[in-house]
Amino acid sequence: MQALVDRIQKDGNILNGDVLKVDAFITHQVDPVLMEEIAESFYQAFKEAGITKVVTIEASGIVPAVYTAQKFGVPMIYARKSKSLTMNEELLTTEVYSFTKQVTSTVSISRKFLSKEDKVLIIDDFLANGQAAKGLIELCRQADASVEGIGILIEKSFQPGRKLLEEIGVKVVSLARISSLENGKIAFIEGDA
Ligand code: 5GP
Repeated sequence: MQALVDRIQKDGNILNGDVLKVDAFITHQVDPVLMEEIAESFYQAFKEAGITKVVTIEASGIVPAVYTAQKFGVPMIYARKSKSLTMNEELLTTEVYSFTKQVTSTVSISRKFLSKEDKVLIIDDFLANGQAAKGLIELCRQADASVEGIGILIEKSFQPGRKLLEEIGVKVVSLARISSLENGKIAFIEGDA
């Protein structure tokens, strides 16, 4: 998606060599016009898949996920993180290691919002090592819901997340694919949409 690539070039900042800061338009301040275009790209990529729910993880997946859910006319569910979560039959629960925060958190979705009839599109802002998306796939699996695909705004293709998800057998659509953040430069390879 050229508009996203252009915006990353213009307003993205490299932190610590392998982390990209996009707080000017995605993760803190949000550009709703860009979000609408992002949602349209995911809609075009998955409109034949019979999507019934869009699933993401808090916090920064929520904005693109809700724009995308609106395009499909379906609910958006965000998995919640909680440190003091106790076992509860009403929850789907798994552990996710956070790439940026470097902590493991328990994430959960209320069982009543996902069922075996659901066809899920998972949305997240970044794909790095794939742990967030893998955790969301696991929550869908616990509900016997089918995962029809994963839509990613920014894939860091030099990290192993995409390979992990493709090995699980899920279709990945990444709008911007970054091949390198070395030497203070953001290099791209062709995106999926
Ligand atoms: P993964 O689970 O694929 O290792 O990492 C994905 C999650 O980590 C995303 O939900 C995103 O919030 C965060 N993340 C990973 N890499 C970056 C990055 O370069 N910049 C930002 N802002 N977040 C990232």
